[in-house]
Amino acid sequence: MKVRHILGISGGKDSAALAVYMKQKYPELGIEFYNSDTGCELSETERLIEKLQSVLGNVKRLRAIEGRNPFEFFLEKTGNFLPSPQQRWCTLRMKLEVFEKFVGNDLAVSYVGIRGDEDRDGYISTKPNIQAIFPFRRNIWSLDVINKFLNNDNMKQVVDIFEKLCSPGRLKYDVTGIVKTPISKGFYYSKKLNALLDLDIKLFNHAVFEFLKTTDYPVGKLDNFPLLDNTDVLVKKDIFDLLRKSGVGVPSYYDEIPFEVDGQVGTYCRSRSGCYFCFFQQKIEWIWLYEQHPDLYKKAMAYEKNGYTWNQGETLADLIKPERIRQIKLDVIKKQNANRKQNKGSNLVDIFGDDILCTNCFI
Ligand code: SF4
Repeated sequence: MKVRHILGISGGKDSAALAVYMKQKYPELGIEFYNSDTGCELSETERLIEKLQSVLGNVKRLRAIEGRNPFEFFLEKTGNFLPSPQQRWCTLRMKLEVFEKFVGNDLAVSYVGIRGDEDRDGYISTKPNIQAIFPFRRNIWSLDVINKFLNNDNMKQVVDIFEKLCSPGRLKYDVTGIVKTPISKGFYYSKKLNALLDLDIKLFNHAVFEFLKTTDYPVGKLDNFPLLDNTDVLVKKDIFDLLRKSGVGVPSYYDEIPFEVDGQVGTYCRSRSGCYFCFFQQKIEWIWLYEQHPDLYKKAMAYEKNGYTWNQGETLADLIKPERIRQIKLDVIKKQNANRKQNKGSNLVDIFGDDILCTNCFI
């Protein structure tokens, strides 16, 4: 049965690095690279995608509407009702629906760039024909797969699988001991998972693969899956190194730009990819947009009509009043100084986290 391999490029560093990594390491998978083109990306993102195209070959641009700006098309349809964290029609209309159309009913393995140093579970497909895999993590499987595999009800089947895969010896003794210990309050899923991964990552992956063959998951329909033998774990530093070495480089909106207020110096940048007006961005990122891309800021301002605003309780016009800009910048300087005192990173990405809020955009 044909199973497609797909990888979505958000315009951020992690998915870009994953695309390069997978292309270099697993060319035989024939991965289809795609990007959801909202028509509202920063020029820095467009440049990144162009560079990626030269390394990856084709990157399919998925666009909800041809011939006009998709965001403006849907905005008109909603009567100028701006999207927000509670009413996130932008993701649904401009990304999810186009993505689902792109995959259709085909079986697909979707590779997702959650790093090994991130503490989040990531995307679980709501469509049974799409299965997410996380190559940068020690545990490449999604939560739903792990929960099924380690469920007490499936223990006998999983013990049998490990019995077949392990040659007699210490490892077999240890593995079956762990597998036969039921999930309980004191031995919960993540504890059991980590105990098995600590023993042998490859063995664990091969066991999950055998288990998936008895299910409808797309990976279970493959004859073989090279990621079973992958034990790489990539963290933030590796992502930056990989992108620089590949020649693609890091998206330039991550470059920290210095600013000064009352003789004090801070830095700002944009800490995430996505639409330039994304309502998930921090106030300082709006100021970055205003000062680095004034034309885009003005466009975002023009969308604020009939009482709809991008930020709750504050219009973009108010946000750029000199005293407000000064206050936002001073707040950032204060946080950056506090981080430095605690020997923590002082970049915006270190303070606010990177791509944390908009991850559902990046399936
Ligand atoms: S990046 Fe932000 S504004 Fe754009 S689709 Fe995603 S959530 Fe919506």
